[in-house]
Amino acid sequence: MNYSLNNSGCIVNGRFVINGRIKYGGCLCYSDGKIEGIAAKPPKNYPIINAEDGYVLPGFIDIHLHGGGGYDFMDASAEAFAEISRIHCLHGITSIAPTTTACTPEKLSEVFEAYRKAARCLKYADFLGLHLEGPFISPEMKGAQNINCICKPTKEIIESIAEKGGDIIVRLSGAPELPFMLETAQMLAPYGITMSTAHSSATCEQIIKAYDYGYRHITHLYCSTTSVRKIKQTVHAGITEAYYLIDGMTAELIGDGRHIPSELLRMVHKIKGPEKIALITDAMRAAGTDCAESFLGEKKPENRVIIEDGVAKLPDRSSFSGSIATADTVFKNAVLSAGLPIPDVSRMMSLTPAEIINKENQKGSLTPGKDADIVIIDAEFNIKNVFVRGNKKV
Ligand SMILES: [Zn+2]
Repeated sequence: MNYSLNNSGCIVNGRFVINGRIKYGGCLCYSDGKIEGIAAKPPKNYPIINAEDGYVLPGFIDIHLHGGGGYDFMDASAEAFAEISRIHCLHGITSIAPTTTACTPEKLSEVFEAYRKAARCLKYADFLGLHLEGPFISPEMKGAQNINCICKPTKEIIESIAEKGGDIIVRLSGAPELPFMLETAQMLAPYGITMSTAHSSATCEQIIKAYDYGYRHITHLYCSTTSVRKIKQTVHAGITEAYYLIDGMTAELIGDGRHIPSELLRMVHKIKGPEKIALITDAMRAAGTDCAESFLGEKKPENRVIIEDGVAKLPDRSSFSGSIATADTVFKNAVLSAGLPIPDVSRMMSLTPAEIINKENQKGSLTPGKDADIVIIDAEFNIKNVFVRGNKKV
């Protein structure tokens, strides 16, 4: 028989995480960069990869990631995009939704251009489309975002964004309670852009309404989101409660072990289950470096942050300003600190994020026909091998 050996292989001696379970025995085959499935024994002519009793998982997918290795996507250069893709791939990420921060329309156009250039010659993790975090967010919930760049959407602004980047944007994170944000969801629906509530002061009622307009996801739940609070003597439920109330609503949690305590991760997992939670790094440019100082977003004096206790902080230490986590740390935190089952953590880092941005037919599980994006980790959950579309990267 004549097999094509292009991007082909057969992984043996693995604990395969498939369909929410760990499967022992057999081997995982892939060819032409696509998963073929589990076979009883390796087919002839396939290169053998020995997992040495490690876990074989679908590659991690991060739908909220700003930077790493000293670069930020807001640097708007092909070099920055390539290097961030490389650094995070070494830590198990095989697909990224490059994430922007609030910026001027001119800057955003530069980012679009850099994305297009970089996506043509990717060598490490794939890009699945841009995630715009801002600029349409609530000033009072801005977190570490630059207040000077925050604005309200208008028909003209949204038309311009759709025209320039509608084909490469997969997510928009914003505050649905702002004027024209429900119309924004309607305008962007034809582009298949996932609308997400972020940096928002919305009440539960507002989120329920926004859900009907297409806001189906919550950006970094428990960070710059609302919960039960009194507004003029009346108790209002918030974004968190809307997430628990609406079965179809998904959310993402920053898994760096600093932004969210492990008990909270356990609680969210218990209430919503792994199908409705994505784990993200929300990593900024200092991830994968040992810098003591860095910048959040563009390299401007007003964006300076310090790195301390494994997290980025504003220089006055008044707030966290991004994580420096890599995906392998997120995986370890969820399994070892929160005690969650490995197949659930794998789902929250691969299939669920793929579903949130509508890429589940191509990515997110070791299902026949999907891209052979595979991570092998050892028994201590350290990265052993990473494959992107069947190409060995680590
Ligand atoms: Zn972010």
